[in-house]
Amino acid sequence: MTRETNVLVVGAGPAGLASAIEMKRLGVDRITVVDREPEAGGMPRMCHHTGFGIWDFHRLLSGPRYARRYVELAKVSGVEILTSTVIIGWDDARALTYTSPSGVGVISGNAVLLATGVRERPRPARLVPGTRPHGVYTTGSLQRFVYERRLPVGKRAVIVGAEEVSLSAFMTLREAGLEVAAITTKHPRHQMYFPYSLAKLWLVDLLNRTPILTSTRVRRILGLRRVEGVEVVHEDTGRTEVIPCDTVVFTGDWIPENEVARSGDIVMDRGTLGPQVDGGFRASRIGIFAAGNLLHGAETAATSAMEGRMAAHQIARFLEDGVWPEVRLPVHVSSPILWVYPNSISNSDSRLPRGRLAFRVDRFVDGAAVQVKQGGKTLYTRSFRRLVPNETLHLPDEWLEHVDLNGEPLEVTVTG
Ligand SMILES: Cc1cc2nc3c(=O)[nH]c(=O)nc-3n(C[C@H](O)[C@H](O)[C@H](O)COP(=O)(O)OP(=O)(O)OC[C@H]3O[C@@H](n4cnc5c(N)ncnc54)[C@H](O)[C@@H]3O)c2cc1C
Repeated sequence: MTRETNVLVVGAGPAGLASAIEMKRLGVDRITVVDREPEAGGMPRMCHHTGFGIWDFHRLLSGPRYARRYVELAKVSGVEILTSTVIIGWDDARALTYTSPSGVGVISGNAVLLATGVRERPRPARLVPGTRPHGVYTTGSLQRFVYERRLPVGKRAVIVGAEEVSLSAFMTLREAGLEVAAITTKHPRHQMYFPYSLAKLWLVDLLNRTPILTSTRVRRILGLRRVEGVEVVHEDTGRTEVIPCDTVVFTGDWIPENEVARSGDIVMDRGTLGPQVDGGFRASRIGIFAAGNLLHGAETAATSAMEGRMAAHQIARFLEDGVWPEVRLPVHVSSPILWVYPNSISNSDSRLPRGRLAFRVDRFVDGAAVQVKQGGKTLYTRSFRRLVPNETLHLPDEWLEHVDLNGEPLEVTVTG
Protein backbone atom coordinates (compact mmCIF):
# COMPACT_ATOMS: atom_id res chain seq x y z
CA MET A 1 0.00 0.00 0.00
CA THR A 2 1.31 3.47 -0.88
CA ARG A 3 0.19 6.58 0.96
CA GLU A 4 1.01 10.18 0.25
CA THR A 5 1.10 13.05 2.66
CA ASN A 6 2.63 16.52 2.76
CA VAL A 7 4.71 16.20 5.94
CA LEU A 8 5.52 12.82 7.45
CA VAL A 9 6.47 12.95 11.13
CA VAL A 10 8.08 9.81 12.53
CA GLY A 11 7.44 9.61 16.29
CA ALA A 12 4.34 10.78 18.17
CA GLY A 13 6.16 11.99 21.29
CA PRO A 14 6.18 15.61 22.48
CA ALA A 15 8.59 16.70 19.69
CA GLY A 16 6.65 15.11 16.83
CA LEU A 17 3.19 16.10 18.07
CA ALA A 18 4.12 19.67 19.05
CA SER A 19 5.73 20.10 15.64
CA ALA A 20 2.67 18.80 13.83
CA ILE A 21 0.36 21.08 15.83
CA GLU A 22 2.56 24.09 15.10
CA MET A 23 2.73 23.26 11.38
CA LYS A 24 -1.06 23.14 11.31
CA ARG A 25 -1.15 26.53 13.01
CA LEU A 26 1.18 27.84 10.29
CA GLY A 27 -1.22 26.63 7.61
CA VAL A 28 0.57 23.45 6.52
CA ASP A 29 -1.94 20.82 5.52
CA ARG A 30 -1.84 17.01 5.29
CA ILE A 31 0.42 16.15 8.18
CA THR A 32 0.74 12.50 9.15
CA VAL A 33 2.38 11.41 12.40
CA VAL A 34 3.27 7.73 12.75
CA ASP A 35 4.26 5.85 15.87
CA ARG A 36 5.12 2.22 16.47
CA GLU A 37 3.29 2.16 19.80
CA PRO A 38 -0.42 1.35 20.01
CA GLU A 39 -0.98 4.79 21.57
CA ALA A 40 0.50 8.18 20.66
CA GLY A 41 2.21 10.39 23.26
CA GLY A 42 5.79 9.09 23.41
CA MET A 43 7.87 8.51 26.50
CA PRO A 44 5.67 10.56 28.92
CA ARG A 45 2.91 7.93 28.58
CA MET A 46 5.03 5.66 30.75
CA CYS A 47 6.06 8.25 33.36
CA HIS A 48 3.12 8.18 35.76
CA HIS A 49 4.72 10.64 38.13
CA THR A 50 4.27 14.39 38.08
CA GLY A 51 6.82 16.81 36.59
CA PHE A 52 5.44 17.53 33.11
CA GLY A 53 3.69 20.49 31.51
CA ILE A 54 4.82 23.39 33.64
CA TRP A 55 6.52 25.20 30.73
CA ASP A 56 4.19 24.35 27.87
CA PHE A 57 0.78 24.04 29.59
CA HIS A 58 1.56 26.15 32.68
CA ARG A 59 0.38 23.43 35.02
CA LEU A 60 1.90 20.41 36.63
CA LEU A 61 0.75 17.21 34.97
CA SER A 62 1.58 13.53 35.17
CA GLY A 63 3.29 12.06 32.10
CA PRO A 64 0.15 10.29 30.76
CA ARG A 65 -2.01 13.43 31.16
CA TYR A 66 0.65 15.50 29.45
CA ALA A 67 0.83 13.00 26.57
CA ARG A 68 -2.97 12.95 26.24
CA ARG A 69 -3.05 16.75 25.99
CA TYR A 70 -0.69 16.74 23.03
CA VAL A 71 -2.59 13.92 21.34
CA GLU A 72 -5.92 15.73 21.81
CA LEU A 73 -4.50 19.02 20.51
CA ALA A 74 -3.05 17.25 17.47
CA LYS A 75 -6.35 15.56 16.70
CA VAL A 76 -8.32 18.79 17.13
CA SER A 77 -5.87 20.52 14.77
CA GLY A 78 -6.57 17.92 12.10
CA VAL A 79 -3.29 16.01 12.29
CA GLU A 80 -3.54 12.42 11.11
CA ILE A 81 -2.03 10.00 13.66
CA LEU A 82 -1.23 6.42 12.69
CA THR A 83 -0.33 4.21 15.65
CA SER A 84 1.08 0.66 15.67
CA THR A 85 2.95 1.74 12.54
CA VAL A 86 6.67 1.02 12.57
CA ILE A 87 8.94 2.79 10.10
CA ILE A 88 11.43 0.18 8.97
CA GLY A 89 13.41 1.86 6.19
CA TRP A 90 13.48 4.08 3.14
CA ASP A 91 11.96 3.43 -0.24
CA ASP A 92 13.06 6.68 -1.81
CA ALA A 93 14.53 10.06 -0.82
CA ARG A 94 11.41 11.09 1.08
CA ALA A 95 9.40 7.87 1.15
CA LEU A 96 9.57 5.51 4.09
CA THR A 97 8.52 1.90 4.40
CA TYR A 98 6.37 0.77 7.31
CA THR A 99 4.71 -2.25 8.81
CA SER A 100 1.37 -2.02 10.55
CA PRO A 101 -1.45 -4.42 11.50
CA SER A 102 -2.93 -3.77 8.05
CA GLY A 103 0.27 -4.76 6.27
CA VAL A 104 3.47 -3.36 4.82
CA GLY A 105 3.47 -0.11 2.88
CA VAL A 106 5.23 3.05 1.79
CA ILE A 107 4.40 6.54 2.94
CA SER A 108 5.88 9.54 1.19
CA GLY A 109 5.96 13.23 2.07
CA ASN A 110 7.36 16.48 0.70
CA ALA A 111 9.22 16.82 3.99
CA VAL A 112 10.03 14.31 6.73
CA LEU A 113 10.57 15.08 10.41
CA LEU A 114 12.38 12.41 12.41
CA ALA A 115 11.39 12.61 16.09
CA THR A 116 12.08 9.09 17.30
CA GLY A 117 13.50 9.95 20.75
CA VAL A 118 16.10 8.09 22.83
CA ARG A 119 16.34 5.02 25.02
CA GLU A 120 18.61 4.11 27.93
CA ARG A 121 21.53 1.77 27.31
CA PRO A 122 20.63 -1.60 28.82
CA ARG A 123 22.96 -3.41 31.19
CA PRO A 124 24.83 -5.55 28.57
CA ALA A 125 25.80 -2.40 26.68
CA ARG A 126 27.27 -0.99 29.90
CA LEU A 127 29.55 -4.02 30.25
CA VAL A 128 28.61 -4.77 33.85
CA PRO A 129 29.89 -8.27 34.65
CA GLY A 130 28.13 -10.88 36.76
CA THR A 131 25.28 -13.30 36.26
CA ARG A 132 22.14 -12.59 34.23
CA PRO A 133 19.37 -12.91 36.83
CA HIS A 134 15.85 -11.47 36.74
CA GLY A 135 15.37 -8.06 38.28
CA VAL A 136 17.60 -5.81 36.14
CA TYR A 137 15.87 -2.88 34.42
CA THR A 138 16.37 0.50 32.80
CA THR A 139 14.02 3.26 33.96
CA GLY A 140 12.03 2.81 30.77
CA SER A 141 11.63 -0.98 31.11
CA LEU A 142 10.83 -0.58 34.82
CA GLN A 143 8.03 1.83 34.01
CA ARG A 144 6.62 -0.48 31.38
CA PHE A 145 6.57 -3.31 33.94
CA VAL A 146 5.00 -1.22 36.68
CA TYR A 147 2.54 1.00 34.81
CA GLU A 148 1.80 -0.74 31.52
CA ARG A 149 1.88 -4.41 32.44
CA ARG A 150 1.21 -3.89 36.17
CA LEU A 151 3.64 -6.66 37.08
CA PRO A 152 5.36 -6.99 40.46
CA VAL A 153 8.98 -5.83 40.42
CA GLY A 154 10.66 -6.69 43.74
CA LYS A 155 11.15 -5.43 47.28
CA ARG A 156 14.50 -3.66 47.55
CA ALA A 157 16.26 -1.80 44.75
CA VAL A 158 19.55 -0.14 43.88
CA ILE A 159 19.48 2.68 41.32
CA VAL A 160 22.63 3.03 39.21
CA GLY A 161 22.93 6.67 38.13
CA ALA A 162 22.09 9.87 39.98
CA GLU A 163 20.73 12.27 37.40
CA GLU A 164 17.26 13.64 36.72
CA VAL A 165 15.87 10.45 35.27
CA SER A 166 17.12 8.55 38.32
CA LEU A 167 14.47 10.49 40.25
CA SER A 168 11.89 9.13 37.87
CA ALA A 169 13.13 5.60 38.66
CA PHE A 170 13.05 6.47 42.37
CA MET A 171 9.43 7.65 42.18
CA THR A 172 8.36 4.60 40.18
CA LEU A 173 10.04 2.19 42.60
CA ARG A 174 8.45 3.89 45.58
CA GLU A 175 5.04 3.86 43.93
CA ALA A 176 5.51 0.13 43.27
CA GLY A 177 6.20 -0.31 46.99
CA LEU A 178 9.96 -0.95 46.85
CA GLU A 179 12.52 0.31 49.32
CA VAL A 180 15.45 2.03 47.59
CA ALA A 181 18.60 0.73 49.30
CA ALA A 182 20.99 3.13 47.55
CA ILE A 183 21.55 5.36 44.55
CA THR A 184 25.04 5.02 43.06
CA THR A 185 26.95 7.28 40.69
CA LYS A 186 30.42 7.14 39.22
CA HIS A 187 30.69 10.91 39.61
CA PRO A 188 31.89 12.64 42.79
CA ARG A 189 28.51 14.39 43.22
CA HIS A 190 24.95 13.55 42.25
CA GLN A 191 23.29 15.45 39.40
CA MET A 192 19.66 15.36 40.47
CA TYR A 193 18.69 18.98 40.06
CA PHE A 194 15.06 18.26 39.30
CA PRO A 195 13.12 21.06 41.02
CA TYR A 196 12.26 19.52 44.33
CA SER A 197 9.16 21.69 44.50
CA LEU A 198 7.77 19.64 41.62
CA ALA A 199 8.19 16.40 43.48
CA LYS A 200 5.84 15.20 46.17
CA LEU A 201 6.96 16.16 49.64
CA TRP A 202 7.11 12.57 50.85
CA LEU A 203 9.46 11.87 48.00
CA VAL A 204 11.89 14.64 48.91
CA ASP A 205 11.93 13.40 52.47
CA LEU A 206 12.56 9.80 51.42
CA LEU A 207 15.16 10.81 48.90
CA ASN A 208 17.04 12.76 51.51
CA ARG A 209 17.14 9.62 53.64
CA THR A 210 18.37 7.39 50.79
CA PRO A 211 22.15 6.84 50.68
CA ILE A 212 23.71 8.32 47.55
CA LEU A 213 27.01 6.55 46.96
CA THR A 214 29.21 8.86 44.89
CA SER A 215 32.43 7.88 43.05
CA THR A 216 31.30 4.26 42.90
CA ARG A 217 31.31 1.68 40.13
CA VAL A 218 29.05 -1.35 39.92
CA ARG A 219 31.50 -4.23 39.70
CA ARG A 220 29.13 -7.17 39.65
CA ILE A 221 25.52 -8.15 39.85
CA LEU A 222 25.00 -11.10 42.16
CA GLY A 223 22.35 -13.83 42.08
CA LEU A 224 21.56 -16.76 39.81
CA ARG A 225 17.85 -16.71 39.02
CA ARG A 226 16.96 -13.48 40.80
CA VAL A 227 19.17 -10.50 41.69
CA GLU A 228 20.55 -10.94 45.22
CA GLY A 229 22.76 -7.88 45.38
CA VAL A 230 25.22 -5.60 43.67
CA GLU A 231 28.90 -5.31 44.42
CA VAL A 232 30.13 -1.73 44.19
CA VAL A 233 33.65 -0.40 44.34
CA HIS A 234 34.32 2.92 46.04
CA GLU A 235 36.76 4.38 43.52
CA ASP A 236 38.40 6.77 46.03
CA THR A 237 39.45 4.05 48.46
CA GLY A 238 39.21 0.82 46.47
CA ARG A 239 36.84 -0.58 49.14
CA THR A 240 34.18 -2.97 47.85
CA GLU A 241 30.70 -3.24 49.30
CA VAL A 242 27.84 -5.66 48.62
CA ILE A 243 24.39 -4.09 48.77
CA PRO A 244 21.68 -6.74 49.16
CA CYS A 245 18.76 -6.08 46.79
CA ASP A 246 16.49 -7.94 44.39
CA THR A 247 16.16 -5.17 41.79
CA VAL A 248 18.72 -3.03 39.94
CA VAL A 249 17.73 -0.08 37.76
CA PHE A 250 20.22 1.40 35.31
CA THR A 251 19.25 5.00 34.64
CA GLY A 252 20.32 7.59 32.06
CA ASP A 253 23.15 6.82 29.63
CA TRP A 254 21.09 7.63 26.57
CA ILE A 255 21.32 6.29 23.06
CA PRO A 256 19.21 7.86 20.31
CA GLU A 257 16.61 5.75 18.51
CA ASN A 258 18.60 6.38 15.36
CA GLU A 259 17.83 3.30 13.24
CA VAL A 260 15.52 5.12 10.82
CA ALA A 261 18.00 7.97 10.35
CA ARG A 262 20.96 5.61 9.92
CA SER A 263 19.21 3.44 7.37
CA GLY A 264 18.53 6.57 5.30
CA ASP A 265 22.22 7.40 4.72
CA ILE A 266 21.82 10.52 6.80
CA VAL A 267 25.07 11.87 8.25
CA MET A 268 25.19 11.00 11.96
CA ASP A 269 26.95 13.09 14.57
CA ARG A 270 29.89 11.40 16.29
CA GLY A 271 28.98 12.89 19.66
CA THR A 272 25.20 12.64 19.97
CA LEU A 273 24.94 9.55 17.71
CA GLY A 274 21.79 11.17 16.34
CA PRO A 275 21.44 12.82 12.93
CA GLN A 276 23.77 15.74 12.38
CA VAL A 277 21.60 18.88 12.14
CA ASP A 278 22.22 22.55 11.46
CA GLY A 279 20.56 25.44 13.29
CA GLY A 280 17.34 24.89 11.34
CA PHE A 281 16.91 21.23 12.40
CA ARG A 282 17.93 20.24 8.85
CA ALA A 283 19.61 16.85 8.52
CA SER A 284 22.15 16.20 5.79
CA ARG A 285 19.56 15.17 3.18
CA ILE A 286 17.24 17.61 1.46
CA GLY A 287 13.78 17.75 3.00
CA ILE A 288 14.71 15.70 6.07
CA PHE A 289 14.50 17.36 9.49
CA ALA A 290 15.05 16.03 13.01
CA ALA A 291 13.98 17.26 16.45
CA GLY A 292 13.59 16.26 20.09
CA ASN A 293 15.60 13.77 22.08
CA LEU A 294 16.78 11.98 18.95
CA LEU A 295 19.21 14.89 18.69
CA HIS A 296 20.69 14.84 22.19
CA GLY A 297 20.15 12.43 25.06
CA ALA A 298 17.27 13.20 27.30
CA GLU A 299 16.06 16.73 27.79
CA THR A 300 12.74 17.57 29.39
CA ALA A 301 9.59 16.93 27.43
CA ALA A 302 8.99 20.69 27.17
CA THR A 303 12.40 21.22 25.55
CA SER A 304 11.69 18.47 23.01
CA ALA A 305 8.27 19.95 22.29
CA MET A 306 9.79 23.42 21.88
CA GLU A 307 12.31 22.05 19.39
CA GLY A 308 9.49 20.38 17.51
CA ARG A 309 7.74 23.75 17.27
CA MET A 310 10.91 25.51 16.10
CA ALA A 311 11.47 22.80 13.48
CA ALA A 312 7.88 23.32 12.30
CA HIS A 313 8.73 26.86 11.21
CA GLN A 314 11.71 25.64 9.21
CA ILE A 315 9.65 22.88 7.58
CA ALA A 316 6.88 25.31 6.65
CA ARG A 317 9.44 27.63 5.08
CA PHE A 318 11.05 24.77 3.14
CA LEU A 319 7.68 23.65 1.79
CA GLU A 320 7.11 27.18 0.56
CA ASP A 321 10.48 28.08 -1.01
CA GLY A 322 12.24 24.70 -1.40
CA VAL A 323 15.52 26.31 -0.31
CA TRP A 324 18.09 23.98 1.24
CA PRO A 325 21.59 24.99 2.41
CA GLU A 326 24.47 24.31 0.04
CA VAL A 327 27.28 24.49 2.61
CA ARG A 328 27.46 22.66 5.96
CA LEU A 329 30.38 22.62 8.33
CA PRO A 330 30.42 19.96 11.06
CA VAL A 331 31.10 20.98 14.65
CA HIS A 332 33.46 18.51 16.34
CA VAL A 333 34.08 18.10 20.07
CA SER A 334 36.78 16.61 22.27
CA SER A 335 36.69 15.23 25.83
CA PRO A 336 35.33 16.23 28.32
CA ILE A 337 32.69 17.53 25.89
CA LEU A 338 30.44 14.67 24.85
CA TRP A 339 28.36 16.42 22.23
CA VAL A 340 27.11 19.74 20.96
CA TYR A 341 23.85 20.51 19.26
CA PRO A 342 23.33 21.82 16.62
CA ASN A 343 26.36 19.94 15.39
CA SER A 344 26.73 21.55 11.99
CA ILE A 345 26.57 25.13 10.78
CA SER A 346 25.11 25.85 7.36
CA ASN A 347 24.79 28.89 5.13
CA SER A 348 21.12 29.08 6.17
CA ASP A 349 21.99 29.63 9.84
CA SER A 350 21.83 33.28 10.85
CA ARG A 351 21.02 32.27 14.46
CA LEU A 352 21.03 29.00 16.35
CA PRO A 353 17.87 27.73 18.08
CA ARG A 354 17.23 30.04 21.05
CA GLY A 355 20.48 31.83 20.12
CA ARG A 356 22.75 29.21 21.63
CA LEU A 357 24.76 26.03 21.19
CA ALA A 358 23.92 23.29 23.69
CA PHE A 359 26.53 20.88 25.01
CA ARG A 360 27.13 18.23 27.66
CA VAL A 361 30.27 16.98 29.37
CA ASP A 362 31.25 13.54 30.65
CA ARG A 363 32.58 14.64 34.05
CA PHE A 364 32.67 17.50 36.57
CA VAL A 365 35.19 20.18 35.60
CA ASP A 366 35.78 23.15 37.88
CA GLY A 367 36.88 26.51 36.47
CA ALA A 368 36.76 25.68 32.76
CA ALA A 369 36.91 27.85 29.67
CA VAL A 370 34.94 26.52 26.69
CA GLN A 371 36.14 27.65 23.28
CA VAL A 372 34.75 27.59 19.77
CA LYS A 373 37.60 27.29 17.27
CA GLN A 374 38.03 27.07 13.54
CA GLY A 375 41.33 26.10 11.90
CA GLY A 376 43.33 27.02 15.00
CA LYS A 377 41.59 30.41 15.35
CA THR A 378 39.56 30.99 18.52
CA LEU A 379 36.16 32.47 17.66
CA TYR A 380 34.70 32.55 21.16
CA THR A 381 35.61 31.75 24.77
CA ARG A 382 33.34 31.50 27.78
CA SER A 383 34.32 30.70 31.34
CA PHE A 384 32.26 28.39 33.51
CA ARG A 385 32.57 28.07 37.26
CA ARG A 386 31.72 24.40 36.95
CA LEU A 387 30.78 22.01 34.13
CA VAL A 388 28.35 19.37 35.36
CA PRO A 389 27.74 16.00 33.64
CA ASN A 390 24.18 15.08 32.63
CA GLU A 391 23.22 18.75 32.56
CA THR A 392 22.83 20.68 29.33
CA LEU A 393 25.05 23.76 29.21
CA HIS A 394 24.96 26.54 26.65
CA LEU A 395 27.19 28.88 24.67
CA PRO A 396 25.60 31.98 23.14
CA ASP A 397 25.89 32.00 19.33
CA GLU A 398 27.73 35.37 19.17
CA TRP A 399 30.59 33.65 17.30
CA LEU A 400 28.37 32.52 14.43
CA GLU A 401 29.05 35.60 12.30
CA HIS A 402 32.82 34.90 12.44
CA VAL A 403 32.51 31.39 10.99
CA ASP A 404 34.18 30.96 7.60
CA LEU A 405 31.80 28.65 5.76
CA ASN A 406 34.53 27.78 3.28
CA GLY A 407 36.93 26.96 6.10
CA GLU A 408 37.65 23.96 8.26
CA PRO A 409 35.16 22.23 10.58
CA LEU A 410 34.48 23.95 13.88
CA GLU A 411 35.73 22.56 17.18
CA VAL A 412 34.37 23.05 20.68
CA THR A 413 36.96 22.34 23.36
CA VAL A 414 37.61 22.91 27.06
CA THR A 415 40.75 24.65 28.28
CA GLY A 416 41.95 25.57 31.75
C1 LIG B 1 11.96 7.60 32.72
C2 LIG B 1 11.80 8.99 32.19
C3 LIG B 1 11.27 9.99 33.01
C4 LIG B 1 11.10 11.28 32.54
N1 LIG B 1 10.57 12.24 33.35
C5 LIG B 1 10.36 13.48 32.86
C6 LIG B 1 9.74 14.50 33.66
O1 LIG B 1 9.39 14.27 34.83
N2 LIG B 1 9.53 15.72 33.10
C7 LIG B 1 9.90 15.98 31.80
O2 LIG B 1 9.69 17.10 31.31
N3 LIG B 1 10.50 15.05 31.03
C8 LIG B 1 10.74 13.81 31.52
N4 LIG B 1 11.32 12.86 30.75
C9 LIG B 1 11.79 13.23 29.40
C10 LIG B 1 10.67 13.20 28.34
O3 LIG B 1 9.96 12.00 28.42
C11 LIG B 1 11.31 13.36 26.99
O4 LIG B 1 12.04 14.56 26.96
C12 LIG B 1 10.31 13.43 25.84
O5 LIG B 1 9.45 12.34 25.85
C13 LIG B 1 11.07 13.48 24.50
O6 LIG B 1 10.18 13.66 23.47
P1 LIG B 1 10.50 13.12 22.00
O7 LIG B 1 9.27 13.40 21.22
O8 LIG B 1 11.78 13.63 21.53
O9 LIG B 1 10.71 11.53 22.15
P2 LIG B 1 9.77 10.38 22.73
O10 LIG B 1 8.82 10.89 23.75
O11 LIG B 1 10.71 9.30 23.13
O12 LIG B 1 8.92 9.91 21.46
C14 LIG B 1 9.52 9.25 20.38
C15 LIG B 1 8.45 8.39 19.72
O13 LIG B 1 9.01 7.85 18.51
C16 LIG B 1 8.46 6.56 18.34
N5 LIG B 1 9.34 5.81 17.43
C17 LIG B 1 10.65 5.53 17.58
N6 LIG B 1 11.10 4.83 16.52
C18 LIG B 1 10.04 4.65 15.69
C19 LIG B 1 9.88 4.01 14.43
N7 LIG B 1 10.88 3.38 13.81
N8 LIG B 1 8.65 4.00 13.85
C20 LIG B 1 7.61 4.63 14.45
N9 LIG B 1 7.71 5.27 15.65
C21 LIG B 1 8.91 5.28 16.25
C22 LIG B 1 8.44 5.97 19.75
O14 LIG B 1 7.52 4.93 19.86
C23 LIG B 1 8.04 7.21 20.58
O15 LIG B 1 6.64 7.25 20.80
C24 LIG B 1 11.49 11.57 31.21
C25 LIG B 1 12.04 10.56 30.39
C26 LIG B 1 12.20 9.29 30.88
C27 LIG B 1 12.78 8.21 30.01
